[in-house]
Amino acid sequence: MSEPPHGSTSDATAAAVAFAGPGPGGGPRARLVALDFDGTLAPLVDDPTASAMTPAARAAVDRLAVLAAGATAGGGVLRVALVSGRDVADLAARSSAPPGTYLVGSHGAETGVVTSDGVDAVPLRLTTEQQATLGALRAGMSDAAAGRAGAWVQDKPSAAVLHTRLSPGPDAAAAVAAADDVAGRLGLHAMHGKDVVEVAVVPTSKGEAVGRLRAALEQESGLPVVVLYAGDDTTDETALAALGPDDLGLKVGPGPTRATQRVPDADALAALLQALADGLDR
Ligand SMILES: [Mg+2]
Repeated sequence: MSEPPHGSTSDATAAAVAFAGPGPGGGPRARLVALDFDGTLAPLVDDPTASAMTPAARAAVDRLAVLAAGATAGGGVLRVALVSGRDVADLAARSSAPPGTYLVGSHGAETGVVTSDGVDAVPLRLTTEQQATLGALRAGMSDAAAGRAGAWVQDKPSAAVLHTRLSPGPDAAAAVAAADDVAGRLGLHAMHGKDVVEVAVVPTSKGEAVGRLRAALEQESGLPVVVLYAGDDTTDETALAALGPDDLGLKVGPGPTRATQRVPDADALAALLQALADGLDR
């Protein structure tokens, strides 16, 4: 994960245009464009409830959704997915994603699709044991944040998240260490992201979720599937690591990654997605 991706934004855009082109055999392909939300389409902000896509990102996602509603160049199929750590209801509300968009929430524990009148979500069902563990987890994470300036805990349907974006360094470090202890005590995995530690009682990852979407699209379309995945955070690396040579992985912003291409921010990603749409819209 320490290998920096090669190339510039123009290399990344060229890779996106190639992704829009025909496959090795020249036949139609199904394309899955899977995008993280926060830090990828929406700039990171101190208040997660204020997060929103940039206007350029919004326009690019809306255009891809229009293309996804019909056949793309060469008789191909396109699907767009937002893949987030947010729970599905929160992701739907924050993104206002267009109908037809797949939603993957809670790092893969929840899935749904946006319809014209809401979200058709697959309900998350926890076992009795998972519910009990979630209760203990929430209490432990709340203790981890207590007395540490700026730290707070967000409850999600299958997880608890420690937020330390507003905490001074020593308070953040102490809260993170305490959260790691809680996870260890409960036998759960702690996912470290940008100023967050998330501990879930349902073991999953964005990589698993993208793998499920890929398999579903392959079955639905009967076509070979290629995947474009873009993300900014460590939790996106599971999805980037699962990509093959015909897929395209994009890292948004700085930091080590398994992605083969990088863009600096949401607006650069939006421009790349418009170039992809140009290639598909023929
Ligand atoms: Mg992100």
